[in-house]
Amino acid sequence: AFDVLVVGGGPAGAAAAIYAARKGIRTGVVAERFGGQVMDTLGIENFISVSHTEGPKLVAALEQHVKDYEVDVMNLQRAAKLTPGELIEVELENGATLKSKSVILATGARWREMNVPGEKEYKAKGVCFCPHCDGPLFKGKRVAVVGGGNSGVEAAIDLAGIVAHVTLLEFADTLRADAVLQKKLYSLPNITVIKSAQTTEVTGDGQKVNGIVYKDRVSEEVKFVELEGIFVQIGLLPNTDWLKGTVDLSRFGEIEIDAKGHTSVPGVFAAGDCTTVPYKQIVIAMGAGATASLSAFDHLIRS
Ligand code: FAD
Repeated sequence: AFDVLVVGGGPAGAAAAIYAARKGIRTGVVAERFGGQVMDTLGIENFISVSHTEGPKLVAALEQHVKDYEVDVMNLQRAAKLTPGELIEVELENGATLKSKSVILATGARWREMNVPGEKEYKAKGVCFCPHCDGPLFKGKRVAVVGGGNSGVEAAIDLAGIVAHVTLLEFADTLRADAVLQKKLYSLPNITVIKSAQTTEVTGDGQKVNGIVYKDRVSEEVKFVELEGIFVQIGLLPNTDWLKGTVDLSRFGEIEIDAKGHTSVPGVFAAGDCTTVPYKQIVIAMGAGATASLSAFDHLIRS
């Protein structure tokens, strides 16, 4: 059995594994895809102390750092079931069962996509999901934010300070964001809000995004907005379906954790985008992975 079994091989899982292995305890990592969301990222400019890097490059460095230690990495394996107990069991989709004295859940999240033509083709070529990450790339340019919930409206306000103009597109006939955010939104001169707008296509020149097409759901008219960037803010889905009924989840499906990364199950800890941690970023996920790992160690020396 492992002392610490980490489920997930993104920044949170890698940090957790390194912190555990450095304690000289038996550490395993099971990951569906080592690297996680970072594998899908082109430029990264907010990984502090590294001015610029690229996703696959950062993942290679993460992998090398994990390999510096005796960590049993089981890549391309998906966890399907968690069974609490003295020895916690993690059942894999391939039928195998792993046992560990403690488990760190770091399965991350994925952005909900619009599922319209052009979106996939222009991902990272104008179609973005993270305003904190990619906002500065559109300095002085025109962007759209799709989604009028809190994250969409926050993104529009944030981007309005950087870009030339923001068009906010909301599917419903009202914005769902908090009133204070809406007040701020409408006070900014370079934001246009369009409600009852169903995005139907992302257009581009083959290299980069050059516009967005939407249907006005009231008049049925199809309209085109010329722009350089699109921020999709219609939800972040935590990869926690397999945990329903075993660990407490928030109404958004995030694993409920306390400041030390404890979940509702003794011996089970969690870190990163799959949890209730505020703000989903690489540096934050890594810090949370370290926290969860130190808490797991603390649990081991007390039991
Ligand atoms: P993830 O990176 O999502 O990793 C989750 C891991 O768990 C993966 O290995 C996955 O395969 C695995 N997994 C999932 N389910 C299972 C299962 N059932 N069994 C086994 N393994 C499983 N952040 C920044 O700070 N700067 C940026 O510039 C930036 N740009 C981004 C650009 C894009 C396109 C995207 C999508 C995200 C970006 N982010 C950026 C956000 C950042 O990538 C995430 O905050 C970070 O990767 C979260 O780390 P994590 O380890 O919690 O989860």
